[in-house]
Amino acid sequence: MQNLRLLKKQAQKEIEKVRDLKELDGFFRKYLGKKGEVTQILSKIKILKKEKRVKAGKEANLLKNFIKQRIEMKKTHLINVSAKDPEVIDITVPGKRFPTGHLHPLTQIQRKVEEIFQSMGFSVVDGPHIETEWYNFDALNIPKDHPARDAWNTLWLKNSKLLLRTHTSPVQIRYMEKNNPPLRIIVPGRVFRREATDVSHEVNFYQIEGLMVGKNISVANFKAIIQGFFQKFFQKDVSIRMRTSYFPFTEPSFEIDMSCLNCQGKRCSVCSQSGWLEMIGAGMVHPNVLKASGLNPKNWQGFAFGMSLDRLAMMKYKINDIRLLYSGDLRFLNQF
Ligand SMILES: [Zn+2]
Repeated sequence: MQNLRLLKKQAQKEIEKVRDLKELDGFFRKYLGKKGEVTQILSKIKILKKEKRVKAGKEANLLKNFIKQRIEMKKTHLINVSAKDPEVIDITVPGKRFPTGHLHPLTQIQRKVEEIFQSMGFSVVDGPHIETEWYNFDALNIPKDHPARDAWNTLWLKNSKLLLRTHTSPVQIRYMEKNNPPLRIIVPGRVFRREATDVSHEVNFYQIEGLMVGKNISVANFKAIIQGFFQKFFQKDVSIRMRTSYFPFTEPSFEIDMSCLNCQGKRCSVCSQSGWLEMIGAGMVHPNVLKASGLNPKNWQGFAFGMSLDRLAMMKYKINDIRLLYSGDLRFLNQF
């Protein structure tokens, strides 16, 4: 029968377009339902004469079975696909990971440093970025005519006597004004200089200031604390050496070198073939600084130190250009 063949073709085309079980149900009803096309043909065949009825009935039943079979195949296919379909909510599937940011390497270093000093009884203290001349210079034993002021490359605020702090040391004064010894603090924070930038200079960078004041604080205490800090920070055996130096706010003053981590003191390009790396400026707090903070230098003494957080980060992560830390370049930052 011509129309049975056409119907078969039509059904075959239509079932290919079926996308879900609901559409499949519609397809079933259209062909095999009570008023379905194949059902209707079968009921018409019943009233035909015998010889026609047998032949047509056989063909119509073949079509009916063909469509049934196709529906079963399609059903299995649709169920398999929906099991893999991400639109179906399966609460046992692990969630999608959203891209998240992470802390800047300098922040990570700062937190690590804070953690180590806190374990040694130091408090973490903060101070303003904008300072007065008094806190940034005078109180730190750098009076107006002192040549040391020339070396600071200060950034002044327009039409005022305020400046962007050149170091974290003003916080020493601010803290000692309000707190009585014995005291031990560190002051991590941003400082500003009028600098030409290069691999080791930036117009701003991060310092860690340290201050410990008490009755019998000596250089030996300082040495023990700093050695302990380096060992915890770099997780390596580190030797340090102290060289005499000069800072207006300490007396005596010294600089601390650390054995080069890159060559273990055997001399390399990182340490300029010296085996040592300059890490810290330090000294015993100058009596004038104690006086400026309202403390009697006869009763109290202590040490202060300052180091660059950037330098610590550069040593720890082997970064060779300080400017990378401030570049905002994700190719760099995503490595930490
Ligand atoms: Zn070296």
